[in-house]
Amino acid sequence: MLIVQKFGGSSVADAEKVRRVAGIIADTYCEGHDVVVVLSAQGDTTDELLEKAAEINEKPSKRELDMLLSTGEQVSVALMAMALEKMGLPVVSLNAWQVGLSTDSNYGNARIRKISGERLRRELDKRRIVLFTGFQGINRYDDITTLGRGGSDTSAVALAAVLRADLCQIYTDVEGVYTTDPRKVPSAKKLDEITYDEMLELASLGAKVLHNRSVEMAKRYGVNLEVLSSYVRAPGTKVKEVVKQVEQMRISGVAKDAEIVSIAIKGVPDEPGVSFKVFRALAQAKINVDLILQSVGHDNTNDISFTVARADKDEAMRVMEKVVETMGAEGVAVDEKVAKISIVGAGMVSGSGVAALMFEALYDEKINIRMISTSEIKISVLIDERYADQAVQAIHNKFFGK
Ligand code: ASP
Ligand code: MG
Repeated sequence: MLIVQKFGGSSVADAEKVRRVAGIIADTYCEGHDVVVVLSAQGDTTDELLEKAAEINEKPSKRELDMLLSTGEQVSVALMAMALEKMGLPVVSLNAWQVGLSTDSNYGNARIRKISGERLRRELDKRRIVLFTGFQGINRYDDITTLGRGGSDTSAVALAAVLRADLCQIYTDVEGVYTTDPRKVPSAKKLDEITYDEMLELASLGAKVLHNRSVEMAKRYGVNLEVLSSYVRAPGTKVKEVVKQVEQMRISGVAKDAEIVSIAIKGVPDEPGVSFKVFRALAQAKINVDLILQSVGHDNTNDISFTVARADKDEAMRVMEKVVETMGAEGVAVDEKVAKISIVGAGMVSGSGVAALMFEALYDEKINIRMISTSEIKISVLIDERYADQAVQAIHNKFFGK
């Protein structure tokens, strides 16, 4: 088999960890597989490089920043190559230039355009282990770009897609994808399998196991992904197109997102076009809106509430104050103490009982639901931030037991 293995920064943070990972790579190679390895920068290197840059210039050009940030991954592959050399294994480390990984010119958040797999294949034909610098690419000016924070997952999936690898393993410091955050809910269970769509929802809901773009890419190119631990040698979680549905009312996970705020426009005239004006203004400002609620106010007016990411709060409020004025609404208010709790499951389409079970869990805890939204594979509710962890626990107990 051809296997792409990616190891995150914490898995290669120091010499001992580099040696441990070298052991995993060596075992895979010695089982007879072709191995391409993608590495992140060691530990907190990327953050430290950002701090160093800030000491010199608080607004460096993005080109120079990428030149700096891309060095972390280069250190990792060189050290790993030395560890494997010492074990007597044939190995070669390559950077984006050597592999021909081209991106657009959006420094700091570049998109992959093309990968010329030639050099990679030549090295694999020689039965060498190939180590590749994650996170980096080359643009059409031959300058170094980076793919955005957490981007080496995407580098790994892209290589797996181009090489038509049999498997792309993402090694990290957890044993796989869990039904909810195991640090908060000890009864959280590791999932054997999850679909791409479920994984995308969970990732965007704040379960930060995989870079979102890497999952989108895996889905598009049908790359078989597996998330597993660098420390515990055990099967992880497989991410793929369809997962066999055994039980009805099956959900894959419960997620919390507290990085949102709720904005309410009060006393909006009850006439056609008002929602359009509100959400057009937000769209023009490129602000993503998530949950939406329109409720009946008094004197022929309505209240319109919606949630946006905390990072978009100020811009959203600025835009809404203008809209309120032109529309003749009463005013706009923001509530920062809210959290979104979601359940995700591809099996949800068929079971209407899923929503009832989630709401029952919240009712048992006397937690008030302020907004609801549903999609084919997700149900989200907005609640008071104070009860977020309690809500996750209660919902998780309902679906997965204590
Ligand atoms: N080293 C980069 C970062 O810290 C890329 C990665 O780890 O995936 O964001
Ligand atoms: Mg990562």
